[in-house]
Amino acid sequence: MGRVDGKVVLISGGARNIGGASARMLVEEGARVVIGDLLDDEGEALADDLCQQFGPGAARYVHLDVTQDEDWRSAVAFTVAELGRLDVLFNNAGIFNGGQLQRYKSEQWQQMLDVNLTGAFLGIRAAADALIDSGGGSIINTSSIEGLRGTPWAHGYVAAKWGLTGLTKSVAMELAPHGIRVNSLHPGRISTPATDQMPEDLIPIPLGRPGRPDEVAAFVVFLASDESSFATGSEFVVDGGTVMHIPTNV
Ligand code: NAD
Repeated sequence: MGRVDGKVVLISGGARNIGGASARMLVEEGARVVIGDLLDDEGEALADDLCQQFGPGAARYVHLDVTQDEDWRSAVAFTVAELGRLDVLFNNAGIFNGGQLQRYKSEQWQQMLDVNLTGAFLGIRAAADALIDSGGGSIINTSSIEGLRGTPWAHGYVAAKWGLTGLTKSVAMELAPHGIRVNSLHPGRISTPATDQMPEDLIPIPLGRPGRPDEVAAFVVFLASDESSFATGSEFVVDGGTVMHIPTNV
């Protein structure tokens, strides 16, 4: 028995790294997944690989730009048509830009809000009826430790991720009567090809290393599963202790 046997999960930004590791772990635990992304080749290759390993119904790929309402509506319709239902929406797609306040462009600000906040809102709005039709479900929104603290040079990202924390709680209240749980996930620094190029955080990680994508995926499986059946509107932090650790020298 897998921990998410029979559940159907739609993942935004599911082609690689945190989203890709989550797709793989969810399938290993018995779910069927639809991977939505801009990266068609990578997303299709991952879906094919999962189908080869776990059977033809294990995964599908759909092109999804989270900033486009029509893409979201097509992705939800595709999920229900191909896999019969929708139980879990994992809003994982996200991008980062940063810069010194006075030089931070309005377009950079807008891009952060469009992808990281509006993208998740459009997904939740598009998926709500399908989740209700399934008799309940789970929505997981990937915020960040930047949705729990302030960080210089990251104004748009921080504002969008805090917005996602608030959106999570508001939607959790509204959808609770339908048995739909909504939680935010707050990774700290997770090792990916992109983050490995970035300078170290001002605040050291108490556990002494960045996390791995599969260490976030483990939380995704938990929040997708019935093991988290009494958790909604909550913040799940997976950060090696970063936000609890307030050093005196920064
Ligand atoms: P990543 O850049 O490796 O992967 C993000 C995925 O989202 C990519 O596949 C990308 O193609 C996709 N994507 C980007 N814009 C999209 C759009 N408009 N529509 C659809 N898909 C789009 O990122 P990651 O490091 O795996 O992070 C995943 C999530 O976790 C993001 O929301 C990120 O903000 C958050 N997060 C990451 C870290 C970290 O250290 N890696 C820390 C905290 C939070």
